[in-house]
Amino acid sequence: MQKDTIAIHTGYDKKNGNGEMAIPISQTTAYAFRDSEHAANLFGLKELGSIYTRLTNPTTDIFEQRYAQLENGAAALATASGASAIFYAIANIAEAGDNILISDKLYGGSVTLFHFTLKRFGISVKTFKNDDASDLESLVDENTKGIFFESLSNPQIAIPNIEKIVEVAKKYGIITICDNTVATPYLFNPISWGIDIVVHSTSKYTSGNGTALGGVIVERDGLAEFFKQNSARYPHFTTPDASYHGLVYTDVPLPNFCLRVRLSLLRDIGATPAPFNSWLLIQSLETLSIRVEKHSSNALKVAEFLKSHPKVKSVNYPGLKGDKYFDKAQKYFKNGLASGLISFEVSTFEEAKKVIDSAKLFSVVVNIGDSKSLIVHPASTTHSQLSEEELKSAGVSPVTIRLSIGLEDSVDLIEDLNQALN
Ligand SMILES: *Cc1c(COP(=O)(O)O)cnc(C)c1O
Repeated sequence: MQKDTIAIHTGYDKKNGNGEMAIPISQTTAYAFRDSEHAANLFGLKELGSIYTRLTNPTTDIFEQRYAQLENGAAALATASGASAIFYAIANIAEAGDNILISDKLYGGSVTLFHFTLKRFGISVKTFKNDDASDLESLVDENTKGIFFESLSNPQIAIPNIEKIVEVAKKYGIITICDNTVATPYLFNPISWGIDIVVHSTSKYTSGNGTALGGVIVERDGLAEFFKQNSARYPHFTTPDASYHGLVYTDVPLPNFCLRVRLSLLRDIGATPAPFNSWLLIQSLETLSIRVEKHSSNALKVAEFLKSHPKVKSVNYPGLKGDKYFDKAQKYFKNGLASGLISFEVSTFEEAKKVIDSAKLFSVVVNIGDSKSLIVHPASTTHSQLSEEELKSAGVSPVTIRLSIGLEDSVDLIEDLNQALN
């Protein structure tokens, strides 16, 4: 089935229930068992069904099925936020003493997760160069459990060398995890390029209007085979789980990665989405493809305007001819579309602040992926605690302005930026 059809129909049979055209919200904590045998079968995985909403929920299940198919994956697991999806994806493969190789161009929340929180759990990180991954292989050791990167990084708007990452991962049998939040499953499918696990913050473009926080983990088909072949590196999938009466995940005919997150991490930590948020995200998913096209075409028009403006010193947008990442966007992303993030530079810190303060349609917000256009000055907000050296390595200068282009008419967006610049 094609994506636009999956986003609207997968996983829901309106003939069950009362024929509701809109998917019902299963706003419930627990589920009644038919009898004690039914309960025992559910707990023993002999039969699949709902036990408790911390583990599964029928509304969330439809969202998961749709996301799995949109990402060409075998299964998906939804979480309460993008941050918890990333934490679970890592905690599912690594523990104290292990390390993860991370890209040098990541979302700030992921940087603090890796450098501070996971460090306290004994999981260390080594950073590789996102753009060419030339140093990636030299960082691999026997305790390396994952390679983590973003397909279109927020906020740097960088695109990695995906073939190189996959080549190194396959050579050593290491799980790759791609945060595909900004590209969305509409522009890019990491699994089709050989990536094992995809994570998203669905709070951004998937929601599209900034109303629901959410995250999702998607796994490729065939990971049980991978875990059997690489059992020395990933013993927890092929040996009995004492916390689940000796269950061996690779013996279960269900996609193993999400199964283990659900049966251990969701069970024990419980960053589960509220059924109502899953329902909101289901509504949003129906229009994701047309929104991403409009975000992208709007952003290209704004980027072209900025490039032609005499007060703008430089523009970064991978959809723009001549951009550092233009060729990669053409190669990896559907129709070369590049989503809605743009950054540009003016001459002075004062001028950057003036542009931010003079914009009227753009809201000063540190989010992305909203239908409303957003503007931010990283040096005085998100990155204000960094030294000049740190700013440089984060790709932020005092004159950088970031935009998340929304769904308004591009004529009005350009007019607003024009008056703010003059
Ligand atoms: C926002 C974001 C996250 C975190 O997601 P939340 O839903 O805010 O927890 C992770 N990765 C990227 C690329 C993001 O933009």
